[in-house]
Amino acid sequence: MQPKQVEIQMMKEKKKDEYTGFEQGPIRPPSEAYSLLIRLTRNCPWNMCTFCPVYKKDSFSLRSTENIIKDIDLIHTYIERIQKVVNPDGLTDHDVINTLYNSFTEKDRLAFNAAINWYAAGMESVFLQDADSLVMKPDDVVRVLVHIKKCFPKIKRVTTYGRSHTVSRIKQEDLNRMAAAGLNRIHIGMESGSDTVLKRVRKGGTKDKHIRAGQKVKKAGIELSEYVMPGLGGIEHSVEHAMETASALNSINPDFIRLRTLAVSDGTELSDQVLTGEFDKPSDVMMAKELRLFLETLDGIDSYIKSDHILNLFETIEGKLPQDKEKMIGVIDRFFDLEPDQRVLYQVGRRMGFFRCPEDMKNSPHIGQVKAACDHYGVTPENVDVVLDELMKRFV
Ligand code: SF4
Repeated sequence: MQPKQVEIQMMKEKKKDEYTGFEQGPIRPPSEAYSLLIRLTRNCPWNMCTFCPVYKKDSFSLRSTENIIKDIDLIHTYIERIQKVVNPDGLTDHDVINTLYNSFTEKDRLAFNAAINWYAAGMESVFLQDADSLVMKPDDVVRVLVHIKKCFPKIKRVTTYGRSHTVSRIKQEDLNRMAAAGLNRIHIGMESGSDTVLKRVRKGGTKDKHIRAGQKVKKAGIELSEYVMPGLGGIEHSVEHAMETASALNSINPDFIRLRTLAVSDGTELSDQVLTGEFDKPSDVMMAKELRLFLETLDGIDSYIKSDHILNLFETIEGKLPQDKEKMIGVIDRFFDLEPDQRVLYQVGRRMGFFRCPEDMKNSPHIGQVKAACDHYGVTPENVDVVLDELMKRFV
């Protein structure tokens, strides 16, 4: 759909948006596990990326600002009711909470669950859903942010996903206004800085657009978290993917760089391309080399790198640039120091959730379980990536 058509559709959707109760979308970044999720828009206005399974069956629509505010008010009311039944020592009486829960209809329980989970987590942060909340008019975003702050003045963080394409079109003064109204962090799915890769996976952006969007976010004083997807260039463009992504990030200097390794999901265009041979997914060993090159090429920035997803081969690649760079590269080198059969044990044990880095294998009480799993499924150095591809689909 062309941008103009998207705009017309958005206007129509917004007009007919009737309030049917509190809403939440399907995903949030791992770092927002304890955030209250407030849904500003439904699904993804782009929805074209070949690797992404998340919103494929759903069409995009805007929610009206009035309805979003009704959701926030509902949570505010529930939080007040919960606070009234909390014991003075901070512990909740489960019978009272259950009685309260049972007094709600099925429809209202979604909001109550959101409120009580957020209360239990300390009510520190709010995440605005879904895939590209900033596609809303800036005035509407600011109005929502102001209302959140009014209802919950003690929160420390309000964050959202945003596409580079969308952010690059927002005027700098509007981003500044959003920052002043309380938007502290934007998570952008850069995935790659290579124009070749971005075009092939139909990301709807370019390296230059990623850089412009990222620099604008930083200029507004909003924290920036950039997501990178090792493996997305396939075997063919692995080196370009690593180097161009690092180059884009070197021009942005985001606060956070987050790694989320490619997993090919069934039903996506990318999985069809794998079947036809149009896309060759790199093995774990190839991706480890790609990741090493990526880390080596990062230069002149002081971003914090995190590898906080089970899809990633190494969880302990974490640290601040430039001082932790060699330590992070060392995690990958320990993997290459392993004999092939030990590497297989690491790859399988990592995806079973037992290891975070190769060092974890030493004296691990789980090594027997990993060996048994490898024997049971007949995992060898030759077929390990095929077996793991199936396992990783469960984590997408
Ligand atoms: S922009 Fe994000 S949510 Fe939308 S299709 Fe691409 S990866 Fe999926």
